[in-house]
Amino acid sequence: MNVIVMGAGIIGISTAWHLLEQGHEVTVIDRQPDAALETSFANGAQISVSFCEPWANAQAPFKVAKWLLRDDSPLLFRPRLDPHQWRWALGFLAQCNDAAFERNVAQLVALGRYSHATLKEMVARTGIAYDRLERGILHFFSSQQDFDAGAAGAELMRRHGVDRQVLSREEVLKVEPSLRHFADRIAGGTFTASDESGDARVFTQELARRCAQRGARFVWEHDIVGFETQGRSLASVRVRDRRSERTSSVTGDAYVAALGSFTAPLLRPLGLRLPIYPAKGYSATLKLKRPADASVVSMIDDTRKIAISRLGDCIRIAGTAELAGYDTGLESRTAQRRCAALIERYEELFPGVADTREPNFWAGCGRARPATSH
Ligand SMILES: Cc1cc2nc3c(=O)[nH]c(=O)nc-3n(C[C@H](O)[C@H](O)[C@H](O)COP(=O)(O)OP(=O)(O)OC[C@H]3O[C@@H](n4cnc5c(N)ncnc54)[C@H](O)[C@@H]3O)c2cc1C
Repeated sequence: MNVIVMGAGIIGISTAWHLLEQGHEVTVIDRQPDAALETSFANGAQISVSFCEPWANAQAPFKVAKWLLRDDSPLLFRPRLDPHQWRWALGFLAQCNDAAFERNVAQLVALGRYSHATLKEMVARTGIAYDRLERGILHFFSSQQDFDAGAAGAELMRRHGVDRQVLSREEVLKVEPSLRHFADRIAGGTFTASDESGDARVFTQELARRCAQRGARFVWEHDIVGFETQGRSLASVRVRDRRSERTSSVTGDAYVAALGSFTAPLLRPLGLRLPIYPAKGYSATLKLKRPADASVVSMIDDTRKIAISRLGDCIRIAGTAELAGYDTGLESRTAQRRCAALIERYEELFPGVADTREPNFWAGCGRARPATSH
């Protein structure tokens, strides 16, 4: 078949690669001049397939209510006059019960296991280098209460066949000795040795090159502006060239929508209501001044919900989720506060290890994750 893949993020490009493997012809359309220039650009770099607890759980509404007014909270819900945001929020609330949680965990564990096996196979087949580290993912907790919740989470995961270990403070330091400056404030941790980390942008862009070598056609700098239908079928995709502003149609035998958070609004006119809403996050990438004193194992500072991953001679710090629409700017007071909080926390954990004077905040660092309501 001739398949049109809309979106050149990590999902669109991985899909293109698999389609080529199966012998299809592929055309990829994206508004950017290269792959992975939006959400897949500078994320937390974690392949945390064993971290399968959905955000929606029985306690989530109380936590979110507590966080509502705090600019520096890990999850920020900014109510807007947007019916899609409210529909998403209601869908989320409907999943905040024990039965839905159990069901969603089981599905995420299965999806994570399959995704991880597929990723490993792709890496082995392509030989792409992307600062991959197969060193596991460590969660550390700075309060006993958070640690107790983390240990309960580990128990739940073990019931689902995920090998997540509970670690004492000493064991946390054995896994990642560079945390020693913070040791007296660590209550304990959890660790999944099979998880990994790596640079999503590098991986996606390299995979896009391999797709091109295998004959995929790329239509860069074209906005998808709508669709033409024939009865209940999709007949073509309407695109507008960003340079010439000319509009044209792209036709295929089948279509894949991998447009991140924009998938939901773009497909709405087709009568498809997807429970996806953007969750804005921030990242900072710092050059290491003392690489030998920096962490190698990818980590989550669980109390602050911040991911820390080593990418060569740099460290990536990423976190927070803001349900506040499609804005990806860095200028607002909230955005500045949240970016600064990442740096301040890193300095507290690893004083003097990275150059925090010139943090490379994600170009428009707040990019919105496509988040489902369950
Ligand atoms: C701060 C932060 C930290 C994160 N950390 C992690 C992590 O550690 N591990 C992890 O697994 N995930 C993480 N994520 C989530 C992860 O980055 C995303 O889930 C993933 O990148 C989404 O990929 P995608 O291909 O679905 O979307 P995208 O990468 O956004 O790709 C969508 C593509 O569609 C294109 N597009 C959109 N609309 C149009 C249009 N109208 N016309 C043409 N093209 C269009 C865009 O240009 C883009 O290239 C994080 C996200 C954030 C924000």
